[in-house]
Amino acid sequence: MRMATSEDDCLFCKIRDGKIPAQKVHEDDRALAFRDIKPMAPTHLVIVPRKHIATLNDLTVEDEALVGHLHLIARDLAAREGFAAQGYRTLFNTNSHGGQTVFHIHLHLLGGRHFAWPPG
Ligand code: AMP
Ligand code: ZN
Repeated sequence: MRMATSEDDCLFCKIRDGKIPAQKVHEDDRALAFRDIKPMAPTHLVIVPRKHIATLNDLTVEDEALVGHLHLIARDLAAREGFAAQGYRTLFNTNSHGGQTVFHIHLHLLGGRHFAWPPG
């Protein structure tokens, strides 16, 4: 089911604004990261731009550096969490077939175990 796409009714905008609590692990002027409430790995973080963008389909060329920034945060968090050398999984889910449930883009960072490929 497609959930809210507007900023007013967006879970990750509410976390960004401190209206819903989260275990934050990173914050800067363009993005924040926090622990996933339903972790799929020993470490499961979500890295979220402050800007509300519903899906990857809604990216514009203006967002190019922002999406790169999310990946540099993933790099740093993987090192800080201690699994950079062993490896990890980063991904965006998009819309129904991608399994997206929160319609504010977020980069998943999963580490601490081996991940199968292809994914289910
Ligand atoms: P996706 O299914 O790719 O849209 O990812 C949304 C992720 O947000 C899921 O992994 C959820 O477990 C996670 N999530 C949902 N609500 C919260 C919350 N309140 N705090 C932290 N993570 C959440
Ligand atoms: Zn949002």
